[in-house]
Amino acid sequence: MKTVLRNGRLLDPSQELDIIGSLVIEDDQISDFGDDVDEEGADEIYDCQGMWICPGLVDPHVHLREPGEDQKETIRSGTQAAAAGGYTTICCMPNTSPPLDSPSLIDYILDQSASPEAGGVFVAPVGALTVGLRGDQLTDLAALKRAGIVAASDDGHPIQNSLVMSRAMEFCVQLDLPIMAHCEDTTLTAGGSVNDGAVSSMLGLGGMPRSAEEIMVMRNCLLSLHTGCQLHVMRVSTWGAVEMIRQAKYLGAPVSCEITPQHFILTEEACADFNPVFKTLPPLRTQLDLDILHQALADNTIDCISSDHSPHAMYEVQVPFDEAPFGMSGLESVVGATLTALVHTGLLSPLEAIRKLSTKPAEILRLEAGSLKPGETPVAQVTVIDPNVEWTFDVNKTFSKGKNNAFHGMAFKGKTMLTFCGSEIYRDALLDSKRYASIL
Ligand SMILES: [Zn+2]
Repeated sequence: MKTVLRNGRLLDPSQELDIIGSLVIEDDQISDFGDDVDEEGADEIYDCQGMWICPGLVDPHVHLREPGEDQKETIRSGTQAAAAGGYTTICCMPNTSPPLDSPSLIDYILDQSASPEAGGVFVAPVGALTVGLRGDQLTDLAALKRAGIVAASDDGHPIQNSLVMSRAMEFCVQLDLPIMAHCEDTTLTAGGSVNDGAVSSMLGLGGMPRSAEEIMVMRNCLLSLHTGCQLHVMRVSTWGAVEMIRQAKYLGAPVSCEITPQHFILTEEACADFNPVFKTLPPLRTQLDLDILHQALADNTIDCISSDHSPHAMYEVQVPFDEAPFGMSGLESVVGATLTALVHTGLLSPLEAIRKLSTKPAEILRLEAGSLKPGETPVAQVTVIDPNVEWTFDVNKTFSKGKNNAFHGMAFKGKTMLTFCGSEIYRDALLDSKRYASIL
């Protein structure tokens, strides 16, 4: 099978490539790219004029909910959502039921995600740092690493005890394993559901102060600095948190961080009508935070963009705001949200946006992904994005079971059109109906 993606904008941050050209996928591998490729014998040719041809996207932070919470998502539905979003590699978080704290559960995730019914993307499991995510006894991290985890995290159950976190980092240095940390001092956020400030007062809801995030970012960055453990700070939301990370990087700590579209687009005001779809962790903050987070995206203090895809069943979110679970689904809205808010506004160049959506998260988590160089990845991982197509995001048309997405009804400019992970795993209906492609 030979597929030619013809005359697109080839964007590959792994080789600082930004040229008009074509790319050839032959027998599941990228065999050629550039301004002069051999189309002879092609089985199909896509006319990609006006579109981006980039490395398959990489999401460092996804909740697949399996095992244990099939009503929210399954490995099958979650990986299909990932393919439709343009992802070819996703990292799944360990807060399933039971949590991913033993090698047999890692085997289960890898088996299920490789099955023909799944979406065809690579799933890189993140193992639990502590047994049962209880924050005290460390898991057998060496055994988990042998089973295939790419990082360790307790994600939504952040380790409060500094001695436990310090020991975890010392172990992970030995194992050369990154720690991904959701940073929250839960003694300060107990009972809270929105940012602590004007909106929490107005709504009479418990507030979650920014200091709760910043204290833990600072602690974890200091432990990283002193142990040498690679730390990836998950979903930053405050200007103070990015300033801490900027300082930690300046001091030489091996620290990286990510942000979600909800945290670079929405503010706490979105919660004013008590719609639980806007209840995120950390909570949505203020315009001042957004302004500084945007600067930090532009100057690369913020390394990458994640979805923090957190699907819930509708009955779970159709409850009063303070009783609703945190988080929203996101795999299928990240591309539209990122291009609309960061690229079309001129904040990030297309190459920088793709770096944050693919090459950088692959580099941080040492995944064989994020590059168009032939042979750099086990199979061809390629995403084609139409940056100019205007569409309205509709959760009812998504593959994810999680219909809880704050961007429902929002106008986006930019959409994933094709995803290849070896073979083609997603083709958008717009390609056919609007005749963007000519398949010969
Ligand atoms: Zn998460």
